[in-house]
Amino acid sequence: MTPPRDPGSDGSDDLELPCGETVDPHAIDLGMREYRCPCGDVHAVVTDVHPPSRFFPESLVAILQETIDTDDEFEEFGTPHLMGVVLEEFPEEVVVHDAADDGAVGYTLLWIADFDARRLHEIIVELVVELMEHAISHADDDAAITEFESQMLEFDVSTFVEQYRREREFESEYDQPI
Ligand SMILES: [Zn+2]
Repeated sequence: MTPPRDPGSDGSDDLELPCGETVDPHAIDLGMREYRCPCGDVHAVVTDVHPPSRFFPESLVAILQETIDTDDEFEEFGTPHLMGVVLEEFPEEVVVHDAADDGAVGYTLLWIADFDARRLHEIIVELVVELMEHAISHADDDAAITEFESQMLEFDVSTFVEQYRREREFESEYDQPI
């Protein structure tokens, strides 16, 4: 737990990115999915306000919420858990900013990755498939396991992400699932 600091534009609250640049968290708005960085790269931006359905369908979100126990301050499996897993896998490539004490932004948590939003999307889908495999392997239902495994054989992360991003390119954080 870091001590709260005064938010402001004096640079004290700036977030250092994996590429070495810094960004003022107040410059990130909720509709932002990517940050065009002075380093020349585009970095994926996620806030806790973004629903997990930014990355995969609500039906899958519902399954994860049912099967994954969370023992933290968040009531059910959501974007903070997803990003927690990403952070574990890529500790050097993702930075997190806690804005809980900062009323000037609309989010509580902000993550910025070294890679772009599309790569992040692929990573998240891959991690979710792993979570599902883990959850399914504990199931007592051989038929369910077999069915899941055969579905996964045909599942292509890159194709899925491509399609999902085409069909579900959210315009704003208020965009609701169809
Ligand atoms: Zn950068």
